[in-house]
Amino acid sequence: MSARKSPQEWTLLFNPNWHQLHVGKCQICGEFCVDTPTPEEAREWCLKHARDTGDDHFELTAFDYCRAVFTDRPSGTNQGKEPRNVS
Ligand SMILES: [Zn+2]
Repeated sequence: MSARKSPQEWTLLFNPNWHQLHVGKCQICGEFCVDTPTPEEAREWCLKHARDTGDDHFELTAFDYCRAVFTDRPSGTNQGKEPRNVS
């Protein structure tokens, strides 16, 4: 059995040390908060910005960071079978 023939797939690796980022952005002036680890903090920033400026339209987004890497499939998965429905 040739090692070069073992099937590989891409998978996503999430680093546990990278927390998800939640960002509130003002759609009126473009100002945004950075590095808020919870949606509540991003919403708080929007409310504070509204109180401070009177701006009243916001966009809330969340970001995850990951790497795509090649991984060997676990042995026994799909061995000896041709992929089906590939055309
Ligand atoms: Zn604003």
